[in-house]
Amino acid sequence: MVVLVSLHGWLVKVPLTPPRGMDDILPEEIPLHRSLVETVRLLFRLYGYKEVETPPVEYYELFAVKSGQEILSHMYVFEDAHGRRLALRPEMTAPIARLVAGRLSRSPQPIRLGYVADCYRLDEPQWGRRRRFYHGGFEIFGSKEPAADAECMVIFDDFLRRVGIKDYYFKVGHVGVQRAIMSAAGISDVDQDTILALLDKGRVEEAEESVRKLAKKGEGGTLFSEVATHPAGPAIATVDELSVRLVGVEKAAKELGNLRKIIKLASQVIEPSKIIYYPGFARGLSYYTGFIFEAYGEGAGIALGGGGRYDGLVSLIGGPEVPGVGFAIGLTRIMQYLTDRLMVKPQPDSPLAFVVPLAEESVEFAFKAAHEFRRAGVPTEFEPAAYSPSEAIRRAERRGARFLVLVGRREAERDVVSVRDLAGRFQEEWRVEEIYGRAEALLSRTRVG
Ligand code: AMP
Repeated sequence: MVVLVSLHGWLVKVPLTPPRGMDDILPEEIPLHRSLVETVRLLFRLYGYKEVETPPVEYYELFAVKSGQEILSHMYVFEDAHGRRLALRPEMTAPIARLVAGRLSRSPQPIRLGYVADCYRLDEPQWGRRRRFYHGGFEIFGSKEPAADAECMVIFDDFLRRVGIKDYYFKVGHVGVQRAIMSAAGISDVDQDTILALLDKGRVEEAEESVRKLAKKGEGGTLFSEVATHPAGPAIATVDELSVRLVGVEKAAKELGNLRKIIKLASQVIEPSKIIYYPGFARGLSYYTGFIFEAYGEGAGIALGGGGRYDGLVSLIGGPEVPGVGFAIGLTRIMQYLTDRLMVKPQPDSPLAFVVPLAEESVEFAFKAAHEFRRAGVPTEFEPAAYSPSEAIRRAERRGARFLVLVGRREAERDVVSVRDLAGRFQEEWRVEEIYGRAEALLSRTRVG
């Protein structure tokens, strides 16, 4: 849909759709979106996360430091009037780390921060991949303990259950294991980032080839390949299989031990069969240093969210040495998953009561009566023009209202309204001074949609 409008004397085309890959969220979609956001906020409260907000626009350098080539090449970058390079945030971990490096650097640790934020990436639009999408995220700073990592998975598990997703699993990994093997072989951090990015893209053979070429000592190449190609399986069993192979490779064995502790802790709450260890797993963001994970829903080939440990990030952007671990739930993708795969039917918000004047003369009284319903907390929509009773019913039904409140000339003269339950249970006259109390009683018997 395109319209022609006049701009400085020229006719120009203006599309009536948002820019490619971005979405309007329509009235029928808002309640589902809001319920996902509310679940995230409930979890902030339940697990002790303080919610924060940061601007959608940040200095480009914040992300350039360590988000990784993959993200940088998909960023919206532009200049402000003073020539400063800015970017629309592609993710939230770096902005949150910026807060911890700066204004929150003196907060007692561990500090738990949460956010609900729209992020922007120049991805190729497709199912579940949009250019603007919402992240609901949780980050813990100041603890290296495995319980902090395990908490992330447990929160995600809690979220998925609460929004009605039952068939899912967690894909877990630990880039600390791969990094330890590469460090022992003398491979630099920068080269490690490149190799892990190859693994992330599924280019396993190229990653193995690079390690073989760059390894300066020992059996680094072979070990790396063994880990990268080790079959995925139930987490604890797979960790134990691999640990036999890492005996003597001290740092890597320790990192694997860390993963085992995290899985053991998470399994106290999450069904163990839902946790699958992929030894060759890596994630696109290069700030990860240890445990990483993603959640997958049955029938969706792409992750519903994910995260991991990023111990060096805060100091990299100029803050103190503070370890961190966190994750983001892909709220937009989950919304699509719920509607397209689990067939959840989005429903617009509807008023509980719909007030209609039946005559021009009763508009004033009806207007005042509608306010009484709202004072009692009843979501109430007012029809500004007068209609016949049959048209009033049609209009109320179209809006999905449960109660129709009719105010004719005779009702207005007697200070009463006529309240009809459209589910057919009653029709009554209420005096205006009764509305507050009776509407409150209605509310406690009816779930507000
Ligand atoms: P990431 O920061 O890439 O780890 O993203 C975490 C989660 O955000 C992913 O697992 C997705 O659920 C979601 N996500 C990432 N990119 C997009 C996108 N382009 N469109 C929709 N959701 C996305």
